[in-house]
Amino acid sequence: MSEALQHDIVIVGGGGAGLRAAIAVTECDPGLSVAVVSKVYPMRSHTVAAEGGAAAVIKDNDSLDEHAYDTISGSDWLADQDAVEALVQEARGELIRLEHWGCPWSREPDGHVAVRPFGGMKIERTWFAADKTGFHLLHTLFQTSLKYERIVRYDEWFVTRLVVDDGRCRGVVAIELRTGLVRLIAAKAVILCTGGAGRIFPFTTNGAIKTGDGMALAYRAGVPLKDMEFVQYHPTGLPGTGILITEAARGEGGIMLNKHGERYLKDYNLGEPLDITDPRHPQKLTMELGPRDKLSQAFVHEQEKGNTIASPFGDVVHLDIRHLGKKTIDRKLPFVRELATNYAGIDPVKEPIPVRPVVHYMMGGIHTDIDGATPLVGLYAAGECACVSVNGANRLGSNSLTEILVFGARAGHAAAQLARELPGVGSAGRTTVLQAQAKDEQDRIARDYLRKEGGDERIAAIRDDMYYAMESGAGIYRDQSSLKQTCTMLADLRERCHDIHLDDRSNCFNTELTAALELQFMLEVAETVAHSALARTESRGSHQRTDHPKRNDATFLKHSLAYRSEDAPPRIDYLDVTITKWPPGERVYGADTVQATADQS
Ligand SMILES: Cc1cc2nc3c(=O)[nH]c(=O)nc-3n(C[C@H](O)[C@H](O)[C@H](O)COP(=O)(O)OP(=O)(O)OC[C@H]3O[C@@H](n4cnc5c(N)ncnc54)[C@H](O)[C@@H]3O)c2cc1C
Repeated sequence: MSEALQHDIVIVGGGGAGLRAAIAVTECDPGLSVAVVSKVYPMRSHTVAAEGGAAAVIKDNDSLDEHAYDTISGSDWLADQDAVEALVQEARGELIRLEHWGCPWSREPDGHVAVRPFGGMKIERTWFAADKTGFHLLHTLFQTSLKYERIVRYDEWFVTRLVVDDGRCRGVVAIELRTGLVRLIAAKAVILCTGGAGRIFPFTTNGAIKTGDGMALAYRAGVPLKDMEFVQYHPTGLPGTGILITEAARGEGGIMLNKHGERYLKDYNLGEPLDITDPRHPQKLTMELGPRDKLSQAFVHEQEKGNTIASPFGDVVHLDIRHLGKKTIDRKLPFVRELATNYAGIDPVKEPIPVRPVVHYMMGGIHTDIDGATPLVGLYAAGECACVSVNGANRLGSNSLTEILVFGARAGHAAAQLARELPGVGSAGRTTVLQAQAKDEQDRIARDYLRKEGGDERIAAIRDDMYYAMESGAGIYRDQSSLKQTCTMLADLRERCHDIHLDDRSNCFNTELTAALELQFMLEVAETVAHSALARTESRGSHQRTDHPKRNDATFLKHSLAYRSEDAPPRIDYLDVTITKWPPGERVYGADTVQATADQS
């Protein structure tokens, strides 16, 4: 084994949450040494792809309670309300801090920060940098992190295991992809910021690296995954590629049309259509700005009614932004125009954009408290891999970028606090025990992959079958029999994984090896999704059971927790939702439904 590396804190992930957490640690104590480990160069993290914006109350017509209420009702009352209150309270400070670090937020003509409407947000509060918000946000965090010498980056290192000793998480084992060396990075605390797992489905907006690694790492270490059945479909993905057409297109006034050219959303209790020829209305909240779960479900109903449009990549509907005009499109939605032109072959200035629902975001993730702490001492999680939970059964667009900042910072502060209380660096005195675990991991990788004899399973074949299992049984609508079938298929795929054969036995950037490891992570995550969905016999937010179409607060106003069992399906348990001021109610959408929050308490 190579010598162990030592840091006070290891952060796995160089996306928005990881970099914000790293900066937070050094802000808290500049003496602490921080490792940021990322399987890709940080600027390639999925955060860079975020388009539409980040939510925070800034205008006089808005309030923290309105933001909290929209988030909670959008979550179908499954979000923890103390976590939502922390989100909305700290959001504006985070976005202003980002401005001071150099983030070029788009402006009103008078110089104030501009905000745009977003789905399920009844008041405009989404800050944006044109439609390349994630790009600017991640650059800002990255350049800021470079100021701190104590932040050490391990770019293109792939974490395969957490090391746990004496009931505490004390570091990670990672493959240095350039050399193939398996190394121990010992630490007093680990923060997982590994992003989502959309890649367990075939049609997704998620980058190829979003394979749920951190969720699976925590799960294998005994930490439960929370609310995994809640998978967000975004209503406007480009057919074929799954590339996202941001909700900002509807925020700026875009409308959804079926094959008869009708604004079909009027039939789905999302409010009245506003006259888009009225110049004031593109700035108003129309029914197209309903929440993502309801819009994606409406697509399925239109499909059943025969109202969708056939395309070479499946049925689509149209997203029409032509009435906004070339000038507005080029100024506010340049990326939408670029993507539609390059990937759908149509110019949205002249033609409507073909779109269909696409897997976009995991509401569930690693179970944490409001400071990112998991039940395993020394292990924290933040960002999309975590479930704190502010998104409940359905996330509102533009809350996630805010979440990665607010809870990235919180997790960083909490981990720094823990590290300061412990003497020395690294895992002081425990390295022999930890090195033994790293050696175990090195042996496992050699035995199961690099030096394995025999085996005739191919990664791509198992992955395709996983896609089929998830899409056919655990998609927008599910029922008991479809979910049971998915669970059975996934168990079978897990068995087949034992027979994977790699052609590439080399050490240098062995992408076949990482694909095999990612596949195993994905299968474990997929099992938690399917089993949690099977156990939840109600419909709530993005989890729609055709055999249990109603929300059932009496039994299921609860988070589900999936625990790993050795060679058996996950064990599902439940945890109460934290309610502070907003008792469960009905989700109501439409242009005139801004809530008087005093009535809610
Ligand atoms: C196309 C698109 C557009 C979006 N637009 C918006 C938007 O406008 N507003 C909004 O609020 N949200 C948006 N979202 C959601 C939001 O961007 C993400 O939820 C958020 O950026 C996730 O950030 P993160 O830091 O948690 O993870 P990521 O940015 O995904 O970063 C994960 C990091 O973990 C590392 N990693 C993972 N596994 C390993 C491993 N095994 N070893 C080492 N490193 C590892 C990766 O290398 C990466 O650095 C969008 C998402 C997509 C896909």
